[in-house]
Amino acid sequence: MHVPFLSLSEIYKDLQNELDLVWDQVNRNSRYILGEFVEKFEHNFANFLKVKQVIGVGNGLDALIIALKALDITLDDEVIVPAHTFIATWLAVTYVGAKVIPVDISYDTFCMDPNLIEKNITKKTKAIIIVHLYGFCFPMVSINKIAEKYKLKIIEDVAQAHGASYYGKMAGTFSDVATFSFYPGKNLGALGDGGAVVTNSDKLAGKIRMLRNYGSIQRYEHILKGFNSRLDELQAGILDVKLKFIKQWNNRRKEIALFYYKELTGLSYIILAPYPTAPEQHVWHLFVIRTKNRDKLKEYMSKNNIETLIHYPCPPHLQPAYQDLGYQEGSFKVAETVSQEILSIPIGPHLTNNQIEYVVDILKKFR
Ligand SMILES: *Cc1c(COP(=O)(O)O)cnc(C)c1O
Repeated sequence: MHVPFLSLSEIYKDLQNELDLVWDQVNRNSRYILGEFVEKFEHNFANFLKVKQVIGVGNGLDALIIALKALDITLDDEVIVPAHTFIATWLAVTYVGAKVIPVDISYDTFCMDPNLIEKNITKKTKAIIIVHLYGFCFPMVSINKIAEKYKLKIIEDVAQAHGASYYGKMAGTFSDVATFSFYPGKNLGALGDGGAVVTNSDKLAGKIRMLRNYGSIQRYEHILKGFNSRLDELQAGILDVKLKFIKQWNNRRKEIALFYYKELTGLSYIILAPYPTAPEQHVWHLFVIRTKNRDKLKEYMSKNNIETLIHYPCPPHLQPAYQDLGYQEGSFKVAETVSQEILSIPIGPHLTNNQIEYVVDILKKFR
């Protein structure tokens, strides 16, 4: 048996008629940028999240940059970020000229350890970026308290947690501004690049709408120094079709996660984070296990035809791109340990029961 990590062709096959119709309609309209499909998707995604404003942009990295710009984060400001995340979270801060202040994570959530935040706050700190990693909805109450006390802005990076919630409130609605990516492999993915910035502030939304489109509302009138980063009509139409299935897909992910927890709990060589119980609704973008023999286990899975990935094998502070910051091994111990122990095993609506049973079988036979 072969178990692919991701199989986007399965989703395309299921939705082919509806997706092909979008292609026809967009071409018939032949309004390719900022037309009715983008408006409709923004409206429907806002309803899904229960947030006032959704602004479609080019990708998840741009969404973060535009969010930081909208909050006036700039040169010499400091922004607190998790030490363990996809590098986009860091790059956005760098691109607006601000300084990343990494904070180590907790083994239980793979997210930023809230107890370490306060001692990293200085006079220059302007914002905290919380990443809802792997589909976990970070409990934002503690963060919002810190933000209030120190008058900081909060940005949620929700690229991996479309539909995750805490006490029924969706990830992305706890902060000043939140950002999404619709990269094809995400829980809600386009057939190309896409992203969104969401906010409950009409004022910020107005600014973000300008920032994504050359700083302009009226054509050839440029109020801000903006970007060209617009979700396009075709991707918006496709996302709108897929949005109708996100709950169903997330439920299937949860079903698989529950099965993995049931079967893998107690195996001596596998460490699982505590299962996130209610009020947490995890959406299982990834299913990440830890093991001391990670590379050996990865190879063993591969030999048995099961695709696995590592999210991520090297934390941003040890990447060549960030050598200028002067961090070294030992700077963020949990992030570093985790990067050596984690393995993402297949999860997603493309998997059959036979396939996930096979994954568990093979994992149980690892010696
Ligand atoms: C995917 C991802 C991004 C970047 O999204 P792109 O659309 O690829 O630019 C940002 N942050 C996190 C946590 C991600 O997983």
